[in-house]
Amino acid sequence: MSNPFYAEWPSPFGLPSFSDIEPIHFEEAFQAGFDQNNEEIDTIANSLEDPTFANTVVELERAGELLSRVADVFFNLSIADTNDQIEALELKIAPRLAVHEANIYQNSKLFQRVMNVKESGVSLDADQAQLVSDLITEFVRAGASLDESTRQEVKKLDTRLATLMAEFGQNVLKDSNAFELIVETPSVLAALPQWVRDAALAEGDHRGCSGQHVFTLSRSSITPCLQFINDRALREEIYRAYSCCGNNDDVNDNKKILSEIALLRAQRASKLGFADHAAFMLSDRMAESSDKVRNLLDQIWQPARARAEEEAVALQKVIQDEGGNFTLAPWDWLYYTEKLRKQRFDLDEGQYKPYFALERVRQGAFAVAQKLYGIRFQRLEDVPVYHPDVDCYRVEEADGTFIGLFMTDYFARSSKRSGAWMSHYRAQSHMDERVTPIIVNCCNFQNSHPCLLSMDEVRTLFHEFGHGLHGLLSRVRYPSQSGTNVKQDFVELPSQIMEHWATEPEVMQAYARHVDSDESIPIALVEKLIESEKFNQGFATSEYLAASYLDLAWHELGDNVPQVDDLEAMVAEGIGLNAAIDPRYLSTYFQHIFSGESYSAGYYSYIWAEVLDADGFEVFKENGIFDPQTAKAFRKHILQAGGTADPGVLYQRFAGHEPVVEPLLRQRGLA
Ligand SMILES: [Zn+2]
Repeated sequence: MSNPFYAEWPSPFGLPSFSDIEPIHFEEAFQAGFDQNNEEIDTIANSLEDPTFANTVVELERAGELLSRVADVFFNLSIADTNDQIEALELKIAPRLAVHEANIYQNSKLFQRVMNVKESGVSLDADQAQLVSDLITEFVRAGASLDESTRQEVKKLDTRLATLMAEFGQNVLKDSNAFELIVETPSVLAALPQWVRDAALAEGDHRGCSGQHVFTLSRSSITPCLQFINDRALREEIYRAYSCCGNNDDVNDNKKILSEIALLRAQRASKLGFADHAAFMLSDRMAESSDKVRNLLDQIWQPARARAEEEAVALQKVIQDEGGNFTLAPWDWLYYTEKLRKQRFDLDEGQYKPYFALERVRQGAFAVAQKLYGIRFQRLEDVPVYHPDVDCYRVEEADGTFIGLFMTDYFARSSKRSGAWMSHYRAQSHMDERVTPIIVNCCNFQNSHPCLLSMDEVRTLFHEFGHGLHGLLSRVRYPSQSGTNVKQDFVELPSQIMEHWATEPEVMQAYARHVDSDESIPIALVEKLIESEKFNQGFATSEYLAASYLDLAWHELGDNVPQVDDLEAMVAEGIGLNAAIDPRYLSTYFQHIFSGESYSAGYYSYIWAEVLDADGFEVFKENGIFDPQTAKAFRKHILQAGGTADPGVLYQRFAGHEPVVEPLLRQRGLA
């Protein structure tokens, strides 16, 4: 049988013919895709014609079609429904793809042609000008403008950094795996909620000590420990083990590794012409500079710090009231917070989960999209999907015009990576002809009957659905500007803003109906849920911001890299961090920034996007959360626009003003 990747998909709506794809087809098609793309790049770079937008930039957009077709399917399956063959191939393909892409963006002839297009002063449409400008940034960041010997030095730094980052991650994993806490004291166990004990027993099974309650250093294990273990010395032991991860002066120690990472990143930035690593990373972000990031963090820091101080006083009072004769420490914070939470809210999952049956919530999300944008979701039977858990929907405008396909893949299984994400099997574009999007949402909900979601999972479903709308409603010309192909600190706006509708009382009361009685969720419960989310936000915001400041500090260094402890102390002192709060991640296990590159000098982006979504939802609230004009503006300027313009400009077009922090402060209960 011929390789199915070599032709357009024959299935309805252009869905990949999953059942025709054999593992062997991937490798073959990747090879053909690389070859074809290399030929295309050579042709563009070595053309004898004068460079024009059409013969250079548009041709680049057209190039790599086969490679995209195979990569889109392969990398989706490798995270959503993998197997041994896919895993083995991924190890081979991922580094080749990285080298392939680097070669394109380090191609100095190609870079020169793109520069010539820009410098020719030819008049371009706004999306075209943006495309040229983003392309140039990408070339510069990859080192295309450097002389050959400097470029080789940068390559050497890249290679060394890749090794160091991998070692960093492995050390964190080794330290985490090496630690286990077996709790046997009956009085300690008795104080733990049932679900925590169940999880600890499951971990015991997993580690070959059946019947024992085992806790580990993973965040999902450590958090309930610190919340519920009533033995203070035990809490301290586990907290110290956690916060010393990668910092035990043994073979797994990360201090030297991360110091070298910081140093090499600074050196690379300097060779590439940037002041420091933060400037290098932020050149491709909405935030643009670390000054702007710091300015935003500072505006949130002051109220967060003040609230955290109040929270600390309240917790200290609980300690005293119980006759405790000690000062609140980091291993006490969550424990006493839980006590206060119970006093104030007395809310447990059993009260609200029956209102959040999966199908209800999914239909609730669809209903919000229909009310906002007039679009409809129609379930399709008998279309090829890659796994029986997958549901496929035809998405259309109010007038029936076809928009694209939306797949949901909600259940956990062993062939799927953990977490939740949105992705595409085909991105929207409209160069020569209209290409409609095929979008997927993946989650990891427990496949139980009925499947009842927690509040976090409800938010996750709405969040990924928001990304899904960004992909579905995209209406751009060029593939590289499509849907979620936007700056990293802007991409969470459509997803996070969607979460707001999930908890709006009128929306929640419509979709959240009791699984047995079909009764709508009581308004008092909705209000309690919303109110409880503002609880302990001084702490949560402070630990997050402290980690963001730490991230920036590591990446604004030059050749002088201080000791890890010194830099951490300097950051904590600089912002006046409460002694009972540590940054959410300390340097030696801060994997976001040291075991990969993309969130280095980028940990701030979560709250950056939250400022946008809180401010954006405020616009909806002022005009009505389903106001047609506001929805139309959001669709036009944000969801349809993809990466066709500067995100700050897009946001301004939608909201009519620059985003401000006050809505976020109110949302977190800090104002
Ligand atoms: Zn997201």
